[in-house]
Amino acid sequence: MLLFKNINYLLRQRGALPLSAEVFLSTDPDSLWEIVSELNQPFELLNTLDYEVRDRLLSETDIKLAVLDVDGVFTDGGMYYTSSGEEIKKFNVKDGMAITRAVKSGLEVGIISAASRSEAVELRAEILGIKRVYVGKKPKIEVLESWLYETGLGFENVSYIGDDVNDTELLKKCGLTAAPADAAAEAKRAANVVLRSAGGRGCIREFFDNYLFPGSSDDMEK
Ligand SMILES: [Mg+2]
Repeated sequence: MLLFKNINYLLRQRGALPLSAEVFLSTDPDSLWEIVSELNQPFELLNTLDYEVRDRLLSETDIKLAVLDVDGVFTDGGMYYTSSGEEIKKFNVKDGMAITRAVKSGLEVGIISAASRSEAVELRAEILGIKRVYVGKKPKIEVLESWLYETGLGFENVSYIGDDVNDTELLKKCGLTAAPADAAAEAKRAANVVLRSAGGRGCIREFFDNYLFPGSSDDMEK
């Protein structure tokens, strides 16, 4: 019901009445496109309005593993280096809270990052209780495939948030995927959902609260 929720959020923002679930489910995607275009705003969820994606999103998703990119998702993409060559990253405490809660509730969380240094990522992962961490140059899909092999899960059981061209493969393949508001256009096109929050500014929190654990927050209404 992700699109349903998002479309109704936009309708309410414009002062229009929300669609009922029956109307939404019986409306063909072309008409949904029209409704959305009439809302007349930069609505990047447009890429989700096709039969295949809509059906997949409307069916029960069964996410067991939430995988996250780091630069541009956990962070705003900024990279800080000290004169001694140490790398510093700024993380968002609201994202951290969402991840800690998710881990406690039994969801497995993983990080796949193409960053050149792993220390800051590994430290943050340890603090948040994230056990699966890969930082390196392997194609991300290969890393995830090895995790799926180990866990017996399928792509449909995985959610993924990524922000750039090296994420598009996973954004297309995983069961439920999102791109932050400031992601590269390719990533936004590939993702099921474009989030309202930018990388490093609560996009993980928004995704977890609204899509993985709907009802845990009223963020969507704000
Ligand atoms: Mg990235």
